[in-house]
Amino acid sequence: MQLDMRVAALKSAIRDVPDFPKQGIVFKDITTLLKDARLFREAMDLFTDLCQRARPDKVVAIESRGFIFGAVLADRLGAGFVPVRKKGKLPGGKIAHTYDLEYGTDCLEIHEDALQRGERTLVVDDVLATGGTAAATGQLVGQLGAELAGYAFLVELTFLKGRDKLQGNVFSLLRY
Ligand code: AMP
Repeated sequence: MQLDMRVAALKSAIRDVPDFPKQGIVFKDITTLLKDARLFREAMDLFTDLCQRARPDKVVAIESRGFIFGAVLADRLGAGFVPVRKKGKLPGGKIAHTYDLEYGTDCLEIHEDALQRGERTLVVDDVLATGGTAAATGQLVGQLGAELAGYAFLVELTFLKGRDKLQGNVFSLLRY
């Protein structure tokens, strides 16, 4: 099957949920794709092909849906897996980055020994929306002295222009 048809099949398995989690947001629900064994594997096959050229030593995945794709991708690319979590969840010594949301702020953390200086690092999440979360994660990677090999998302909401906030390679499989 041609790539555009394979992409269309994956897109049609993602459910749009209007007004979730709040009025005016159309939530891209990936659980309808994940529950289909064939489509989950197909998504990971295409996502792995897309991300291969980043040649990461480590995949840094963002809590929580980023863990699903990041963990499989790390295994397939022979890279280590590193979680970035919301404030207060990681047990070891860590560094934090606080960033602005539409209303208020949020804080992400990473273990201070999770990345070595110069290690090629790919930041992974399920959806790129405004880009604030991914940019904050990129900051954490930079603070630890690792090399940012790029960012990868299963879904990109292009109309929100999140990639403008990100430096370097930005890979996305399903664009809306
Ligand atoms: P942002 O910082 O705006 O790029 O938001 C990214 C985070 O919010 C990601 O972890 C996404 O999982 C989630 N997110 C934002 N908007 C949506 C959406 N419309 N559908 C699904 N997830 C979203």
